Amino acid sequence: MHAASLTDSHGRTLRDLRVSVTDRCNFRCLYCLPETEAAANFYQSRFIKNGAQRIARQWHSAEKILTFEEIERIVRVAVNLGIEKIRLTGGEPLLRQQLEKLVEKIAKIDGVRDLALTTNGFFFAQKAKALRDAGLQRISFSMDSLDRENFKKITGRDSLQEVLDGIDTAQQLGFAPVKVNAVVIKGINDHEIEALAGFAQKKQISFRFIEFMPLDSGRAWQKDLVVRGSDILQRLQKAFRLQPVVSANKSETAKRWSFENSPGAEIGIIAPVSEPFCGHCNRLRLTADGKLRTCLFSVVEQDIRAVVRSNADDAAIANFLQDAVWKKEARHHIGEPGFVQPERTMSCIGG
Ligand code: SAM
Ligand code: SF4
Repeated sequence: MHAASLTDSHGRTLRDLRVSVTDRCNFRCLYCLPETEAAANFYQSRFIKNGAQRIARQWHSAEKILTFEEIERIVRVAVNLGIEKIRLTGGEPLLRQQLEKLVEKIAKIDGVRDLALTTNGFFFAQKAKALRDAGLQRISFSMDSLDRENFKKITGRDSLQEVLDGIDTAQQLGFAPVKVNAVVIKGINDHEIEALAGFAQKKQISFRFIEFMPLDSGRAWQKDLVVRGSDILQRLQKAFRLQPVVSANKSETAKRWSFENSPGAEIGIIAPVSEPFCGHCNRLRLTADGKLRTCLFSVVEQDIRAVVRSNADDAAIANFLQDAVWKKEARHHIGEPGFVQPERTMSCIGG
């Protein structure tokens, strides 16, 4: 069926593995894990008529979570099958104790070309040096607003300053480029698009605007809350002199632009809803409780934890990975009649 690689039945070869190290989070972003009064008000006023309902939050118990040794083993086998990029995520990955130990283990695996982390930034300044010393190569922050009150409304935490400090620390430590992601939601932070891009230009950051996807625990996603990538671009082109960045990497999810006369600064637009890139998707996800997901919107998962905990040898783990990947979904069906939102939210999948 397939040689020693991770190839699916649609001809895509997977190179990118996203590893969620915890489903827990210290933020309550209203597009991911809403639990705050602000989120409840926002959702209630708009969606109660649609029967929007919250998924009850229950963190995984400790024994369900993969150990660092189990994660390292799965990553090593996957890298032997052609995975090159590893991104650690969550939940909030910096809530996992001694994450630097896992970073160190993964950085040592022969064949890992890129080791990155996505964080809400709250604990980054504290942990940055240990992570860098352990071999972390790249860092992405999530920051959806530059306005303290709006940041608090979106994330449920009054912590904009900690995130800004984290971004500064990352730049001082030589992470380059530092990436920052913002999910854009109509009526929530779309008025800040130009300000966020201006921040990227000033700080020489790679800024990514992401379309809101139906992966929120409030199940309140609606198409009319999505600000289309093309609309974001139009606005930015009015405000800045932008030049397209041509990339040889076909599986890149972002369309990118650089600023004239601002080397190092860049914006990217990730538009999975209005301009799906499924045909080039080369990603595989491993959840904190050891399930493989071949698509963000998968409604079935493969239990690799059971295999790893059954005394299976590496060849059996490799076979399991290959079989799971072979069945990778052709594409997502967001916005189509009959679309089923996955049971897990982004915080439990690992974005
Ligand atoms: N807690 C970390 C953070 O916020 O960066 C890592 C995990 S978070 C789930 C990873 C990314 O998913 C973040 O950049 C976040 O903005 C994005 N995300 C979460 N829910 C989303 C949604 N419903 N639509 C689009 N992106 C989402
Ligand atoms: Fe937490 Fe990240 Fe989800 Fe926000 S986006 S609730 S920080 S996991």
